[in-house]
Amino acid sequence: MLKIENIVKTFNLTGNAEDIKVALNDVSLEVNEGDFITIIGGNGSGKSTLMNIISGVFSPDSGHIYIDGDCVDKLPEHKRAKYLGRVFQDPQMGTSPNMSVIENCEIAIRRGKKRSPFKWGFTKEHKEFFEEEMKKLDLGLEKRLNQKVGLLSGGQRQALTLLMANFEKPKILLLDEHTAALDPKTADKVMKITNDIVTKENITTLMITHNMKDAIKYGNRLIMLNNGRIILDIKGEEKANLTVEDLLKKFSENPDIVMNDKMILS
Ligand code: ADP
Ligand code: MG
Repeated sequence: MLKIENIVKTFNLTGNAEDIKVALNDVSLEVNEGDFITIIGGNGSGKSTLMNIISGVFSPDSGHIYIDGDCVDKLPEHKRAKYLGRVFQDPQMGTSPNMSVIENCEIAIRRGKKRSPFKWGFTKEHKEFFEEEMKKLDLGLEKRLNQKVGLLSGGQRQALTLLMANFEKPKILLLDEHTAALDPKTADKVMKITNDIVTKENITTLMITHNMKDAIKYGNRLIMLNNGRIILDIKGEEKANLTVEDLLKKFSENPDIVMNDKMILS
């Protein structure tokens, strides 16, 4: 359903040949419908760049992206947005603080729809739908529909962003360390909510995480990026039985792996 073919992406900020940074080095990946893929890798290994290439924020130097068999290379970011749900690390990014919960939801539900004359005032059906959706989160947000989102905690905002990203079931959900800015307990809660939504709705999902335990616990496939290349791709039975020890063993067997940051092991 998503096919990434021989993607190369380099950055060169100064124009000097010696400053060329290869962010993705011939990356290919075939994602099946309903796959929930966790992505790990050190700082600067190319994880976010991969998501930015899929969503059309950057164009690759070479290679192709296909969604449902259609080549989307020429499709700009705003046209791909209707296929994609995205949640970033920063809880501020996904919602508007000066609008209420229900106003944010209303905007999310209109996303990707043909533009209609924009008028405020919500239908009763929408309100009931939003209330039911909020109840799923079990964070009490169904009672706070009229409050400004800026008053919510980081965890509540991430959960809300996640819910909104899935109002119009996206073809692909892209999560870029969306629990990394939260305290461990809240991160755990948002992670469980994520798993519930993704598995119940069978949403094809790519999730970047610093938390190795989460990468192991959730999803049906785990990939690891290192220096712009996919160096591990573990799926099926092997993924289901994977432990932290197995992963660490694979790291120690591969001298190329750069563990240059704080991957969380506990
Ligand atoms: P990760 O998300 O795995 O930490 P990134 O994909 O953000 O890594 O970055 C991969 C490499 O590409 C890094 O060396 C980073 O500095 C570089 N890079 C990413 N985005 C840009 C950009 N917009 N401009 C210049 N260099 C970038
Ligand atoms: Mg990143």
